[in-house]
Amino acid sequence: MLNRRSILSAAAAGVVAARAPKPLRAATKKFDAIVIGSGLSGLNAAMLLEEQGMKVQVLEGRNRVGGRVYTLMNVPGRPEAAGELIGGNYARMIDTAERLGLDLIPPVELGAARGWLYRIKEQNILPEEWPSHALNPLEGDDRQLMPDRLLFILAHRNNPLSGRALDDWILPEFQKYDIPFSKYLRETLGYNEEIINLMNVVVHTDHVDNTSALHEIRRYAVGEFNQSAALANSERPASLQVKGGNSLLPFAMSESLENGVLLNKTVHTIDDNGSSVSVTCNDGREYQAGQVVCSVPYPVLRHMKFTPRLPMIMESAIDEIDYGISIQVHFLIKEKFWEKDGLPSSIWTDGPMERFAVLARGENGEETSAISFINGVEAFKYDYMTDEQVAAYTLQELARIRPSTKGALEPIMVQSCHRDVHGSGDWVFWRPGQVTKYADNMRARHGNIHFCGEHTALLERGMEGAFESGERAAFDVLDLVG
Ligand SMILES: Cc1cc2nc3c(=O)[nH]c(=O)nc-3n(C[C@H](O)[C@H](O)[C@H](O)COP(=O)(O)OP(=O)(O)OC[C@H]3O[C@@H](n4cnc5c(N)ncnc54)[C@H](O)[C@@H]3O)c2cc1C
Repeated sequence: MLNRRSILSAAAAGVVAARAPKPLRAATKKFDAIVIGSGLSGLNAAMLLEEQGMKVQVLEGRNRVGGRVYTLMNVPGRPEAAGELIGGNYARMIDTAERLGLDLIPPVELGAARGWLYRIKEQNILPEEWPSHALNPLEGDDRQLMPDRLLFILAHRNNPLSGRALDDWILPEFQKYDIPFSKYLRETLGYNEEIINLMNVVVHTDHVDNTSALHEIRRYAVGEFNQSAALANSERPASLQVKGGNSLLPFAMSESLENGVLLNKTVHTIDDNGSSVSVTCNDGREYQAGQVVCSVPYPVLRHMKFTPRLPMIMESAIDEIDYGISIQVHFLIKEKFWEKDGLPSSIWTDGPMERFAVLARGENGEETSAISFINGVEAFKYDYMTDEQVAAYTLQELARIRPSTKGALEPIMVQSCHRDVHGSGDWVFWRPGQVTKYADNMRARHGNIHFCGEHTALLERGMEGAFESGERAAFDVLDLVG
């Protein structure tokens, strides 16, 4: 059996692909390991454990696999409702996709079709007008930066984590940045409130005041690492997508498992008696295994009962750590409204609709559908609306700020990453002080229960973070059972 050190170094070299022969292992329990959740982290853990000869069963609460990887297969152009861009340096994810025979292609990003119209303080602004516009709060060369790019470029300046090792963010020397992001932008980088307000439109967390600056500077440092394949003029583009939809990856991963994934199995209780763990689902069924890997995100974990109880520090991390929320409305395009008013087809606003983008995902770059994408603080009010009300509200707001859209769009789907009982949000985020308090306490095993999920990743974030965490949890299991 591979040990942790050899596998970690293999992973660093991007060669986890080399599958070891499967040693036979006597099953003393019904399963050697149960994995809860079929997102990328759980599936990766299950594949690695099975490769090492363990008898594994994955239990998934939803009626589909993939968790926060969810391609809307029935919407024209197959937009991604969740995990979208695969970073050029996502070694584990790219390697797994390639091993499973999937093709990776450069992505079509939001706003790629015919550019953005900016709508700021109720005024329509064309990209060419922005550098000299009276509402542009920037100075000097920065005035050329478009509003949607401000967060990514301005907040990254003088990034103390730039060029550092990916896991340096939890070192004590960086705790001085575990402060409100707005304070960092104002006092360390010297931006005024107008600039900070424009950046706040894009943050995926709930607000720049409630977000740790350390979370954000880590985000940009990791992003820089993942783009470095492109920066180094490598053959590989800065980001990728799975041809046919990212969901094809979790589908293929689950199909590769001997026992597949049992769907509609919402786990609510985990009892560890020291020699085996039993897991009970909402349908009353109980499953037993020697080890359990739990990949459930914290907002859902809050409702799960553990015996023995989790350590207090972990219980409070589970209670307090949140995920960014977002809501999307997908539309069919009945009429090319941009041909009527001659403006760019997508709209970036500082108002309640935030971003509305025409997606050009047809084979020849033709427009396939449109999406209204709201995240962060503006997304909260949508939690109090039904899907019909959300769709009606976005159509009404669109028609108000862009009359040519009236009658041109038909809502087909409202999709949110947090509005169901298995949902958490988009990505985990840290509030000021939380990195210092919790970042070191989220990976510890609890008896025979191991935790993974993007929120527990040390190096990467998002989908690659999910892979990394599943790998770490699998090695923890292997270390424990010898
Ligand atoms: C809108 C959006 C955009 C994103 N964009 C990107 C991007 O461009 N690039 C990127 O890298 N990442 C992106 N992400 C983040 C990325 O998708 C996630 O970080 C990653 O997929 C998380 O994987 P996971 O396995 O940790 O968690 P999940 O995918 O959430 O998996 C957890 C699984 O557990 C299941 N579950 C929950 N409760 C129970 C229960 N009680 N019993 C059994 N099963 C349960 C869930 O149904 C789910 O399948 C995005 C996410 C969203 C929502």
